[in-house]
Amino acid sequence: MRDRADIYFQTLMNEPAKYISDLEKKAQQEEVPIIRRATRDLLRYLLHVHKPENVLEVGTAIGYSALFMKECLGENGKIDTIEKVPARIKEAKENFRKFDTKDQITLYEGDATGVLKELVSRDKRYDFIFMDAAKGQYMNFLPDILTMMNPGAMLVSDNILHNGDVLQSRYAVTRRDRTIHGRMREYLYILTHHDELETICLSLGDGVTISTKCSRNKGKVDKLDE
Ligand code: SAH
Ligand code: MG
Repeated sequence: MRDRADIYFQTLMNEPAKYISDLEKKAQQEEVPIIRRATRDLLRYLLHVHKPENVLEVGTAIGYSALFMKECLGENGKIDTIEKVPARIKEAKENFRKFDTKDQITLYEGDATGVLKELVSRDKRYDFIFMDAAKGQYMNFLPDILTMMNPGAMLVSDNILHNGDVLQSRYAVTRRDRTIHGRMREYLYILTHHDELETICLSLGDGVTISTKCSRNKGKVDKLDE
């Protein structure tokens, strides 16, 4: 049912620019993990509606999602994106050189743990953040991400279901995956219970959350008489 819905919905969506489809094929051939079609459609929708000026992506791979997001931003939109694997950095740079003709994308090389600290220390602020790196590390990245979110900023986190593992009992997954399982569940708990965030969890693609930074004590009405 879900597969059929996905296939049907895809027939309704507009094709992206040809180079985006070509990059998608290339990534699939080289087995580089990239966002799924449904996730791509969600990003397009959110970016068109939200119109962020400054975007941060954690996990560039070969630049497919960064270039796709760039297509959804106006010419003033900027994207900072972080990648640590040298071979992927090399390919991403090549793709940005060819397809980011207006220099809207900046690639930060290195482990996101350090790069995020550096961005915080430079007082960087973002309206939209796409988290798509090592799933076990989302928790560690979160404090710096929150610091850099402008009021009203959106945080989209991909692969929160980790191929369905996150839904399994922790005893049903292998030991390595158990750590990811626990950390992802903790991450999702924090996103959904955080004072400053309003979050929705979607089972679309490999699971996605959308969180918006609100003022403190969302939804709680102050009692005037107390
Ligand atoms: N957003 C990309 C796909 C990213 S795949 C797209 O849809 O086109 C996840 C990427 O995150 C991988 O390339 C991996 O090397 C990178 N990554 C994982 N952990 C990281 C970390 N701690 N710091 C920087 N990059 C990381
Ligand atoms: Mg991903």
